[in-house]
Amino acid sequence: AAARKPLMAGNWKSNLNHQEAVVLVQKLAWTLQDKKHDYEKSEVVVIPPFTDIRSVQTLVDGDHLAIGYGAQNVSEHDGGAYTGEIAASMLAKLGCSYVVVGHSERREYHGESDALVNTKAAKSLAAGMTPIVCVGEGLEVRQSGEHVAYTLAQIDGSLAGFSAEQIASLVVAYEPVWAIGTGEVATPEDAQEVCAAIRARVAETWSADAADSLRILYGGSVKAANIAAIMAKSDVDGALVGGASLQAEEFAGIARFY
Ligand code: PEP
Repeated sequence: AAARKPLMAGNWKSNLNHQEAVVLVQKLAWTLQDKKHDYEKSEVVVIPPFTDIRSVQTLVDGDHLAIGYGAQNVSEHDGGAYTGEIAASMLAKLGCSYVVVGHSERREYHGESDALVNTKAAKSLAAGMTPIVCVGEGLEVRQSGEHVAYTLAQIDGSLAGFSAEQIASLVVAYEPVWAIGTGEVATPEDAQEVCAAIRARVAETWSADAADSLRILYGGSVKAANIAAIMAKSDVDGALVGGASLQAEEFAGIARFY
């Protein structure tokens, strides 16, 4: 298998103002240093609200931190008369490396379709950032046993039209909606089942090389106590972490899973 570098991305959602953001990133950096974290063994990324990004950039640059950062959403437009929208070029200018697209909360509360997620991922790539494309089924779909087919349809729609090179460079996050913020973590076997199916689909649609390079994260109630068992699965390359990423000690423990 390819040497895919594990990625631990902390999605803060709509939490923490810019001052609180600076405190958390500082604590995170210190805690990782305390734990003798090797950033080569897992990449650490924070995904704060838009209003925090400039402050995080200043801290990361000023202190030469190895922590990366990104945004939780991006406009499907390049800029212009779109009141309230943040264009990909603006995020790239702030040093964002990643953009989360199609998080289940955006699909559910803002009606984001696979086609829209596809456009947002394309805009992120064009601006030189890596999209973290989120997919995953809700509880009813899981109970019906259709979770693999459902998630693969999201993959087909959300990644349509990308080249094999683009696919190789991006990140997919498999997040079963029933496991997000519920304390209900999927078993490592559940995570592996769907992550392996996504990789197989990518191999079939694009290429074996693209599938080998693509990083696939698991997300859903990940904590320091359960990350090692999840990371032991061969098709899981990291985690997208919500609640636990708001606590420096807990998120550092996740990054230090090895
Ligand atoms: C998420 O929102 O991406 C997520 C995985 O949340 P939590 O870790 O809180 O379940």
